[in-house]
Amino acid sequence: MLFPEKSENTELKFRNIYTSPEWQDLDPINRAQLIMVAEGVKPGTIIGGNLSSFLKIIEKMGLEASLNTHRFQMAAVYDVATPEVMNKYRLRLLTADISATKAECHRINGEFLGYPACCTEEYNNPQKNLKARIAKSPNKFISNVDFELQGMIETTGHYPDELDFCPPSFTPCSANCENALCVLGKWKIRALRWSMGQI
Ligand SMILES: [Zn+2]
Repeated sequence: MLFPEKSENTELKFRNIYTSPEWQDLDPINRAQLIMVAEGVKPGTIIGGNLSSFLKIIEKMGLEASLNTHRFQMAAVYDVATPEVMNKYRLRLLTADISATKAECHRINGEFLGYPACCTEEYNNPQKNLKARIAKSPNKFISNVDFELQGMIETTGHYPDELDFCPPSFTPCSANCENALCVLGKWKIRALRWSMGQI
């Protein structure tokens, strides 16, 4: 297992860092991702954007940042995780065959980022509602989750609010994917608790 699950009611490890000026310098999306990794809720993350304070913070948290040079990666970003998770992740990448397909790389990355396998498979090989998606958006690719979300909003005006906590790099296989909603729900609980002044 790449990442051991942690109990929900653990005291925050880096409370002092979350109130520091360096922390405030990070982009909000980077803060949200880093706190999940630092507090052991998510195995790893990818950090991009404003990186001026980032490496200093990573060092204080005992996390490791590695410049992401994967094939199929367009912009320069960092992978971030604990040294233990990073070592297992590197080993997976190294032992993947040199001819590993884009799909295999996505599987390894998806596990590193804590995404359910069903969602990575749909991302690799779009199948769900494919005909309807193409009919609805013939010229621009639309993910199944976005297709379903549009339908939910048009018909009921509601959608699972866990999806508001979806990081930009994660594409759930469905707006109703139980595995994705379970993972996002865990992140949501922490994000809400931490944003309500409990850090
Ligand atoms: Zn899924």
